Amino acid sequence: MPVEQDGGSYDVVIIGAGISGIGAAYRIHERNPRARYVILERRDRIGGTWDLFRYPGVRSDSSIFSLSWPWEPWTRTEGVADGDHIREYMDSTARKHGIFGNIHFHSHVQSADWDSRTDTWTVHVIENGTPKTYRGRFVFFGSGYYNYDEAYTPDFPGLGTFRGTVVHPQFWPEDLDYTGTKMVVIGSGATSISLIPALAQKAAKVTMLQRSPTYLLAGSRVNPLIEVVRKVLPRKFSHAFARYFAVAFESLVWFLARTTPALAKRLIRAQNASRLPAGYPVDVHFKPRYNPWDQRLCLVADGDMFDAIKAGRAEVVTDHIDHFDETGIMLRSGQHLDADIIVTATGLQLQALGGVRITVDGNEIKPQDRFSYKAHMLEDVPNLIWCIGYTNASWTLRADMTARSAAKLIEYMDSHGYTHAFPHLGGEPIAEKPTWDLQAGYVLRNMHALPKSGTKRPWVVRQNYLADAIDHNFVDKVDENMTFGRLASPARVAG
Ligand SMILES: Cc1cc2nc3c(=O)[nH]c(=O)nc-3n(C[C@H](O)[C@H](O)[C@H](O)COP(=O)(O)OP(=O)(O)OC[C@H]3O[C@@H](n4cnc5c(N)ncnc54)[C@H](O)[C@@H]3O)c2cc1C
Repeated sequence: MPVEQDGGSYDVVIIGAGISGIGAAYRIHERNPRARYVILERRDRIGGTWDLFRYPGVRSDSSIFSLSWPWEPWTRTEGVADGDHIREYMDSTARKHGIFGNIHFHSHVQSADWDSRTDTWTVHVIENGTPKTYRGRFVFFGSGYYNYDEAYTPDFPGLGTFRGTVVHPQFWPEDLDYTGTKMVVIGSGATSISLIPALAQKAAKVTMLQRSPTYLLAGSRVNPLIEVVRKVLPRKFSHAFARYFAVAFESLVWFLARTTPALAKRLIRAQNASRLPAGYPVDVHFKPRYNPWDQRLCLVADGDMFDAIKAGRAEVVTDHIDHFDETGIMLRSGQHLDADIIVTATGLQLQALGGVRITVDGNEIKPQDRFSYKAHMLEDVPNLIWCIGYTNASWTLRADMTARSAAKLIEYMDSHGYTHAFPHLGGEPIAEKPTWDLQAGYVLRNMHALPKSGTKRPWVVRQNYLADAIDHNFVDKVDENMTFGRLASPARVAG
């Protein structure tokens, strides 16, 4: 076995240089300027999701004003942002705030071990092919929620016989030339809805094949009200306005959909019908069996998907795959879809904590066996923060609260001389609910991939930003569920 190199000691080891990891670095430094941190990132670039996903048309499907960080204004006009613009924003922000230099790229974290004798995490990494060890008083997991190495593709019968090209959006080949080709995109989630209008600009024909319909809602890329406010108010204030406006608007849509589903269904159908050609079978292709927001509502930016259908460049087929053959897909109805390229937009594989193996004093911790405390710490696991966003609102809304909670915890512990802290549930049984109660395939396939949620504060993972924000800003304090302690002579971080 090669000898592990010493990566050094830090106050905080942050895993992942995506929205969550960079946001954590900013908030921790803002509140604890003397704290030393390192960001370990397995890829060679910043951005996480927004660097990995390179398919044509990749964009945000929640408002970029709430997806961007509250502490660094989004300066472009569009409120629905393209993937490369999000990546550029993240990269320039990390450089501007001095975070970039603390990122160690090509650093794939394998395991993290807590030792109560020293109150220290030892983080084992493969960095540029070499084993390396970092030590930290805290670890912050900004490692996202899905497997970076493997996407999800169902076991389609006959897939191997297809003579054309099969592509998954998670691994889009940079040099894929689809000009003038016949393309079939399997799936009707947010990825397909942003991908298809982009493909339709060059492909001869794009067919979206879905087993069942998804709710689509057209919305403008640019909000004129926000544009006016941005012209009048200084950037900092206009960003705050845009952010609150986006949160309020998205929360209202979600609230109406959940409380008055029949009305929401009627409104969505009416909007879809008005954007599709006369006589289009709206109910066949755009009338889901579930209620709005049982699954994520898909945004159609500037109605581009509907425009592509109207122009005859894209079509929707609602059917089941019987099998693949050499030239395409045979459907159960007997229809055959000819294809040169098939895109399997069939989803992600949920994964907690970046696949990192965790031990506490030599005992392995399975994150899915632990309840999460205030959606950012794990029951009986000291000095560990994990970051997970909302399914019904922009990820960053919770990621930023998590980063601020981590920063606050570190400050509190340092000011009291504590060296460890963990939430403790005690023996009391508590009711459990799914951490993500979303009827999406990638959640249902792997319901137990994430840490557990209880049903009551502080052990519940809610999908309610407004309630969480009120608790976070006005109610939350150190509570009796947290256990704090100190070593007789704590190890100090050098530097
Ligand atoms: C196509 C797509 C579109 C989306 N659109 C939206 C949207 O519009 N709005 C929204 O709110 N959310 C959206 N999401 C969810 C999105 O993932 C979040 O918005 C956000 O980008 C997550 O940020 P993150 O930093 O937590 O995780 P990620 O972006 O996944 O970043 C995690 C980082 O951690 C690194 N990492 C993971 N494991 C390890 C390890 N073991 N060692 C070292 N590094 C590791 C990864 O390489 C990566 O850089 C979308 C997701 C996808 C896939």
